[in-house]
Amino acid sequence: MIHQEPDCLFCRIVRGEIPASIVYRNDHVVAFRDITPITPQHVLIIPVRHIASLSDLTPEDEAAAGQILLAAGIVAEIIGIRESGYRLVFNTGKDALQSVFHIHGHLIGGNQMGWPPF
Ligand code: 5GP
Repeated sequence: MIHQEPDCLFCRIVRGEIPASIVYRNDHVVAFRDITPITPQHVLIIPVRHIASLSDLTPEDEAAAGQILLAAGIVAEIIGIRESGYRLVFNTGKDALQSVFHIHGHLIGGNQMGWPPF
């Protein structure tokens, strides 16, 4: 049984209790459109397993973490930005303004971005 939290917003999206525009899912990850997109394409990739942040990953989470990275290219292909390019951003903790404590990679793209990102 994959660990989930009853009241976690993103666990609830995984379980279908809260609607989301899902673009891809498999046994390990779910990818859905961000409700407040910051770029023309903005998808969140989350593990099905509840893990609060990158800082909370343990060796037990190795498969879940790897599946997020594997999903990035698949999702980028689905939403049409694999060739043009994209970023996968994990806001982690207070200074990075993480607001939902269930790991999520922001897959953003669809226009020319700048660097550095702050
Ligand atoms: P963070 O600030 O933790 O890096 O990112 C959380 C993201 O979740 C934000 O970009 C926010 O727009 C998105 N978000 C918050 N609530 C919901 C929701 O109910 N549905 C969807 N699809 N995205 C959400």
